[in-house]
Parts: sequence; C-alpha cells; structure tokens
Amino acid sequence: MVICQHTLFTINTHSLIFSHLSQSNTNKTQRRSKFIMSTTGQIIRCKAAVCWEAGKPLVMEEVEVAPPQKHEVRIKILFTSLCHTDVYFWEAKGQTPLFPRIFGHEAGGIVESVGEGVTDLQPGDHVLPIFTGECGDCPHCHSEESNMCDLLRINTERGGMIHDGESRFSINGKPIYHFLGTSTFSEYTVVHSGQVAKINPEAPLDKVCIVSCGLSTGLGATLNVAKPKKGQSVAIFGLGAVGLAAAEGARIAGAGRIIGVDLNPKRFEEAKKFGVTEFVNPKEHDKPVQQVIAEMTNGGVDRSVECTGSIQAMIQAFECVHDGWGVAVLVGVPSKDDAFKTHPMNLLNERTLKGTFFGNYKPKTDIPGVVEKYMNKELELEKFITHTVPFSEINKAFDYMLKGESIRCIITMGA
Ligand code: NAD
Ligand code: ZN
Repeated sequence: MVICQHTLFTINTHSLIFSHLSQSNTNKTQRRSKFIMSTTGQIIRCKAAVCWEAGKPLVMEEVEVAPPQKHEVRIKILFTSLCHTDVYFWEAKGQTPLFPRIFGHEAGGIVESVGEGVTDLQPGDHVLPIFTGECGDCPHCHSEESNMCDLLRINTERGGMIHDGESRFSINGKPIYHFLGTSTFSEYTVVHSGQVAKINPEAPLDKVCIVSCGLSTGLGATLNVAKPKKGQSVAIFGLGAVGLAAAEGARIAGAGRIIGVDLNPKRFEEAKKFGVTEFVNPKEHDKPVQQVIAEMTNGGVDRSVECTGSIQAMIQAFECVHDGWGVAVLVGVPSKDDAFKTHPMNLLNERTLKGTFFGNYKPKTDIPGVVEKYMNKELELEKFITHTVPFSEINKAFDYMLKGESIRCIITMGA
C-alpha cells in the first residue's frame, strides 16, 4: 500500500455523513459534493476492532483505511452485528489462522467514495456489504438459478482485496488482513463493489444490517428453496438465528404448522415469537425423530429446513418429509468428514433433497428486495435483535453469543 501518495486525513468519527443526512434535499446535494471533496482519494484514519490473536478480545485501534481501488467502494459503517461465522474464525480452530485481522460481515453503512470503474454506486448510497458477491458477468451470475458467483463467492482464506491481493487497512504501515472481503468491525471499510447491495435509503440501518447474512440465509432457504405452499407443514431443525429466520420464512409463506426441532430446550421459548408452535427434542424420544414427526403429521411434513450443521439432523430432516411431494433443504455446514447416508428408496418415493447457500439470494439483485419486505411490514426483524452495544464494547457481543444469550447483537459505530 502506498501511503505517501495521499495526504493523511483524520476524520471525526461521528463526522460528515450524519450531518449530511439531516439536511433538506437541496442542501443534501450541496453537502454531498462538499463531502466528496473532503475525503475522496485520501487515507482515512478511524477506529477499528482488531483481532491480533485467535480467541483473544478484540483491541480498539486507530487504523488507516486506503482509498478504494478499481471496482471497490469505501463505506462508512454505521451498524454491524455479530454472526457465528465471525466467532468461528476468531477462534480459528481447524482453519489456517490469519492475524491480525478485522472481522465483521453483517452491517449497514453509507458509501463514502468509489474507485475506478464503479458505475452502480455513488457516495451517499445506503448499502449492505455482503460476504459473497455478484460480479454480474460469470455463468453463475448469468444463470437465474445460481447465486454462486465464480469471482466473488465466499472465500474465508483471502486476507486482501481481489484487485491486487493487498490489504486496504494498516497500522503504522503494517497491513491488517480483511475478512470475507467485508471487515465491518471498522468505522470505514473497503469492499468490492460486487459485494455491495444498494438499499432503500429510508430503511433503518440499525435493523436491516442483519439482512446481510444469517437472516437472509434462513429466510431464503424457506422462501426460495423449500417454497412451502399456504397451509403446509414445515419442520425447522435447529433454532439458532438461521433456523429462526427459516421459521420467519415459513410464517411469511403462510405455513399451517411450524415444528421446531432442537436438542436445546431453551430455544423453544424464544422460538414461539417466530411462529413455531410445536417442538420436538430428539433427546426426549426413544424413537428416531423421523418417526416422531411422521406420527405427528400423518406421514411426514411437507417441507423441512435443516439449520444445525449436524449430519444426523440432515439425514433426519430429509427422511421426515412426506413421500410423494416432501422437500428437504440443507443449510447447515457439516464437518469435513461427514457423509450423507440414506436409502435410495427415500428418494425414489418422491422426496426431494436440496441444499442452499445464502438462501439462494443474489446479493446485489435480491437483497434490496428483502429490505423492502421489512419496509412493507411483511418481514419482522426486531424480534431477532436481542442486544445492542456501543462499538467500544464490541467484546460483549462475543460474550453474549458464546453464552448462547443472543440471537443478534447490534454494534453501534461511533458510540
Ligand atoms: P446456532 O449454533 O445458533 O444454532 C444451531 C442450533 O442447532 C442450536 O440451537 C443447536 O442446539 C441445534 N442443534 C445442533 N445439533 C442438532 C441436532 N442434531 N438436532 C437438532 N438440533 C440440533 O447456529 P446458526 O448461526 O443458526 O447457524 C446454523 C447453521 O447454518 C450452521 O451450521 C451454520 O454454519 C450454517 N450456515 C449456513 C449458511 C449457508 O449459506 N448454507 C450460511 C450461514 C450459516
Ligand atoms: Zn459472477
């Protein structure tokens, strides 16, 4: 990273965007141009929560954030939330450790400046950075069916930007690694423009920031993949944030019965708010869960969505759907050596098994529509938000998640 080419610019953290937002429309335009001139092309110094070592509390540091390069945008993050994937890579068990690193991938913010070649975003746009992208130009992006972009598909090993492999973050010239191309635990971040969804500027970013990852994964698994018909029964395996989002999808689709399956009975109380009315704890039954569910539903559920990551639950979720029409959708990420084993007759008897990544949503094309569902009061987000902390107390968000107390904890930047 070449720092000396740019004048260093220290920014007041509550800064320009907030004041710019409170202006009338005419003033907004004037403010916007003033805003562009003040930081575009400059290095910005701001606060970021840096992870120096696996499993150690994040440390609030002043970092330098370089201007966006080709096909990149620099975003002022206003709200971010913590997801299990951050915690998993923070713990760095079973992966190549990459530190120091700035985590964070669920967030909402405002574009501060754009790099060369970015034509669909401009300073002032309200956006959600997304951990997986849409280049718009590969066979997957051209396919109506896929969201698994060749260029910008999730890559947990990459610590720099695609354009040049370099990091845009540094402390005293020492680079700090990116995470999932988003690194939202920083007041400013640089993201590939293909990983940025432009959303309705009226949408409250402190709520819709959770749409960036887990919420859309579960919601889309039900609405886009399982596709229950009105009145049908849906079993949700795993009642964590992703499973509860899948249940929210079932509620929106008008499911007649939503059956929650979890080994942890504490999850059942919370799940009632999400329209889950019947519960099965596999530990409380001598019979296989498939059989328990078949007996409850006269032969099997119409749809099931697995959100656990347990291979047993994946097999159960498939075998508990009704023959003739049942559809099971796998969302959980299994362990490396797991293998899915079922008798082929279960498939021949016209059960369908599917899997999905990010709820089959194309990040740029479809995520603005999920935000609109919230704006139209079709989708409820508030019930997912159990905690809020200021950025300076970000480590508390990790504690809540590790203790299993939170569904989503919103981290307010600039606080
Ligand atoms: P979570 O840990 O909060 O919830 C998982 C729940 O599953 C827990 O309540 C746990 O008690 C329950 N569970 C575990 N084993 C079970 C079993 N055998 N039977 C019944 N319940 C069981 O996790 P989360 O954040 O909600 O994520 C759920 C899964 O989704 C994870 O595997 C995660 O990696 C995966 N995920 C997938 C995608 C994707 O795009 N496919 C995206 C994000 C997350
Ligand atoms: Zn693509």
